[in-house]
Amino acid sequence: MKRIYLDYAATTPVDVRVVKAMLPHFTEIYGNPSSLHAFGQEAKHVVEESRHTVASFIGAKPEEIIFTSGGTESNNFTIGGIAHARSDKGNHIITSRIEHHAILEPCHFLEKEGFQVTYLPVDKYGLVDPGDVRKAINAKTILISIMHANNEIGTIQPIAEIGSIARENGVYFHTDAVQTFGHLPVDVDELNLDLLSASGHKLYGPKGVGIIYARKGIRMSPFMQGGGQEKGRRASTHNVPGIVGLGKAVDLAKEEMGQEIEHLTVLRDRLIQGILNAIEYSSLNGHPTKRLPNNVNVSIAYVEGESMLLNLDMEGIACSTGSACSSASLEPSHVLTAIGLPHELAHGSLRFSLGRPTTSDDINYVLSVLPGIVGKLRAMSPLYKKEVKYGSVQ
Ligand SMILES: *Cc1c(COP(=O)(O)O)cnc(C)c1O
Repeated sequence: MKRIYLDYAATTPVDVRVVKAMLPHFTEIYGNPSSLHAFGQEAKHVVEESRHTVASFIGAKPEEIIFTSGGTESNNFTIGGIAHARSDKGNHIITSRIEHHAILEPCHFLEKEGFQVTYLPVDKYGLVDPGDVRKAINAKTILISIMHANNEIGTIQPIAEIGSIARENGVYFHTDAVQTFGHLPVDVDELNLDLLSASGHKLYGPKGVGIIYARKGIRMSPFMQGGGQEKGRRASTHNVPGIVGLGKAVDLAKEEMGQEIEHLTVLRDRLIQGILNAIEYSSLNGHPTKRLPNNVNVSIAYVEGESMLLNLDMEGIACSTGSACSSASLEPSHVLTAIGLPHELAHGSLRFSLGRPTTSDDINYVLSVLPGIVGKLRAMSPLYKKEVKYGSVQ
């Protein structure tokens, strides 16, 4: 059977060129970068090379890059590390209701320690209003964290504008750029950023490696204490193959990103239009234009997201849903709730995220299969029959 992966926002395959670059660093260049002998120093050299590559990619200096174990750690480290280092200055953090759980959970944890957190609302497209950020700032505000692009609905935030408001008020500004790093241009100066998180496995690099960018002079409490690596902020022996892989993934993104954006935008819009045209009572979630080039998120009324997902899986198509049953809480995704989707639409959501290998044929295949699945499921839905028959479907 044909198998089509359309879940690149969850993770990407490692590019074979990245694997090739990593391999010698398991068996040949295996020294510990902290060791003073030649074995250690050659490992240290490749780590620093990768740091340089990553830094120049986002307009940063090498000493402003901290290697971590991924996006979750980078987010946890930033929220906790800034909060604890700056608690003498204030105890207030501003974020949004649609952040990844790797931001929201550390914020909830800090609230238990006595910090105050403002969770800003978003509009129906998932956009944060920079005016709301300005209004939320008070004398105790020490950090603002707003994601660059949302992983579920793909909405891209006005980061540069929010960053300049943060700067005017002397508040540090962090963005979770896990979905944009390597996919859209990211420049820390143009975006007025002080801190940024990114992860290797979302841009065809390996899992288990990520970065924090922290502007020079920013103090953060250490996340891991031990051997003093990463200037004492993040101890633990460097993941040398992972760090090399991340550097290679960035090199490839630098070369191929522009073309990829064009290619994916065309496929994305074809898939969106194709679904909306072929399926009654379907709608787009997220912003029509301020959205990730690879993100398609639709709601299909009167069908369960899980049922569609499993039926698509049987046809070889992999996607994801923000519907309730996929979560432990039985609540639909916090992002879909925050944009104000009624329950029945949140339950019928599907996210297709496209990637480097996605072809026009893949999109055609989805469009040839999905309407049939929806029709079959709706034929079994008493609610659909009732609503359509008595005309209360809008
Ligand atoms: C995937 C993701 C993360 C988590 O990154 P990991 O490297 O998997 O820990 C954080 N934020 C966003 C927006 C993501 O998409």
